[in-house]
Amino acid sequence: MIFTVAIDGPAAAGKGTISQAVAERFGFRHLDTGLLYRAVGVKGGDPAAAARNLTAADLDRGDLRTLEAGQAASRVAALPEVREALVSFQRRFARSEGGAVLDGRDIGTVICPEAEVKLYVTASPEIRAHRRWLEVGGDEARVLAEVKERDARDMGRADAPLRAAVDAVTIDTSSMAIDEAVAVACAVVVARLGRAKA
Ligand code: C5P
Repeated sequence: MIFTVAIDGPAAAGKGTISQAVAERFGFRHLDTGLLYRAVGVKGGDPAAAARNLTAADLDRGDLRTLEAGQAASRVAALPEVREALVSFQRRFARSEGGAVLDGRDIGTVICPEAEVKLYVTASPEIRAHRRWLEVGGDEARVLAEVKERDARDMGRADAPLRAAVDAVTIDTSSMAIDEAVAVACAVVVARLGRAKA
């Protein structure tokens, strides 16, 4: 069975947790596409060359989850040559046999517009910054400024800007416990799987 769950949304909205939970529940493979951009961002040198030559070891680095790596990722992610170099790997993953969950910024709009399920997971900048701050610590005002800066860059870029696909189901997690958000996401998948089998 080919079945793609595309999960897009801004940083720290809960996409990662929801994606992992959905993948586990339905036995689908999961790709966190932000890691690809993070790996390119921290590699240094020519970003397009880094994107074309990404290795498994690049994706295994211990420093990919830092705020700095997130900022570096969002800078290289605005470069069309970088995005282009990462498209085919993501598309193949999305349409491989057995079901796949991909989370990112442009999965439902660019990478896999034919995805069977599209979710747009969001929350207010303040709530997202607070969640990120609980993970990384430091100065919460700085974390909020970084979240807003990254949102502006990701939503404002010319190539594959972050936005909800017209046919996406939006889940606003601002006042939801994560279990609740996972339950909503799983219910959307169940409904669509039912139709796929009917
Ligand atoms: O999701 P994560 O915070 O790891 O993504 C890091 C950055 O990578 C994002 O801010 C965005 O600029 C970029 N990205 C993207 N397209 C994706 C996934 C991530 O442009 N599909």
